[in-house]
Amino acid sequence: MALSKEVWILAEHREGELEDIALELASAGQRIASKLGGGLCAVIFSEQAADMADSLASHNAGKIYAINDSTLRGYATEAYTEALCGLIEGEKPDILLCGATPFGSDIASGLAARLETGLISECVSLDVNDDGLLLGTKPVYNDRLQAKIVCSSAKPHIATVSPGVSEIKSPRTGNRAEVITVTPKPVSAGRQARVTGTAKADLKMIRLDQAEVIVAGGRGIGGPEGFGTLEKLAELLGGCVGASLVACDNGWVSEDKHIGQTGVIVSPRLYMAVGISGSIYHTMGMKDSRVIVAVNRDRNAPIFRLADMGIVGDWQDTVDEIIGHLDEAEESA
Ligand SMILES: Cc1cc2nc3c(=O)[nH]c(=O)nc-3n(C[C@H](O)[C@H](O)[C@H](O)COP(=O)(O)OP(=O)(O)OC[C@H]3O[C@@H](n4cnc5c(N)ncnc54)[C@H](O)[C@@H]3O)c2cc1C
Repeated sequence: MALSKEVWILAEHREGELEDIALELASAGQRIASKLGGGLCAVIFSEQAADMADSLASHNAGKIYAINDSTLRGYATEAYTEALCGLIEGEKPDILLCGATPFGSDIASGLAARLETGLISECVSLDVNDDGLLLGTKPVYNDRLQAKIVCSSAKPHIATVSPGVSEIKSPRTGNRAEVITVTPKPVSAGRQARVTGTAKADLKMIRLDQAEVIVAGGRGIGGPEGFGTLEKLAELLGGCVGASLVACDNGWVSEDKHIGQTGVIVSPRLYMAVGISGSIYHTMGMKDSRVIVAVNRDRNAPIFRLADMGIVGDWQDTVDEIIGHLDEAEESA
């Protein structure tokens, strides 16, 4: 099969605004494309792709496939997979990178199955080997080992990349991309699922993976009321609240705040772990945070081994004190 040596990225957006993961994939994809001596292309499902084209071009996408069809307004696995599958079969890219997000993971696995090709999921870094095959590194065995996986199957090689692990390169002004509008074939009959409506979520509360500051609480918070105090601190710091699995399981906060191996993986600039012991399951989801501050009354809590700064004491006293200082600073500003 003749291959275009193109690296494609699936560019996610929210209501016409590119998600960070799209630009992270562009940076990672450009590096791989340069190694292969090929180009970087972005695929975007949107009727407003032109608005996002300049940003993708400034992050080195030379070509943008805009899949534009009114029937694809609401996400449905089958319809999106079918549309992207058709485009891939026509253009035959070498590699496709998707975010290891709910959207990217869903579509990547569906594509790999349809195209009978390999998928390396949740990579933390990417490379190509001497044979030009995609090489993905991902943590395994509770993060104790890093596995390097090579995609030696049919192309395109597909990988999902965890959010927050690839640095977004500075944009280059003056780059232009060719925007190709793609109208997918009419949908095949007998689809199992269709979107009947959408509900707006509270983005501030849910988009933990994009928060720059997270104040996370655990069992030590003792109940739902304590999370109100953490909410106040998070608000003053311009961030949002997260939680350990225990706090979610206890019903103190909603399930979407669950951070860890089986929850959301985050890497904010500041992570405050309040009343959280630091089990491996939890730390796997936040260990890449730039600065970690732990508050715990047990000086031997494992979280202190990971923390850049530790406060041994009762969380309520500590957090009240911090809030007091921040309130004062805000009043005098
Ligand atoms: C398969 C599997 C997957 C899992 N996935 C996840 C996951 O994704 N995310 C996750 O979080 N967990 C996960 N867990 C659960 C995990 O093993 C731990 O049980 C959990 O993370 C512990 O939560 P915690 O730190 O809130 O509670 P605890 O371990 O009970 O720690 C509470 C901490 O609060 C401190 N404390 C108590 N009172 C105060 C106070 N007044 N002031 C200050 N500190 C105080 C205590 O000293 C203690 O260190 C998973 C478990 C399994 C088996």
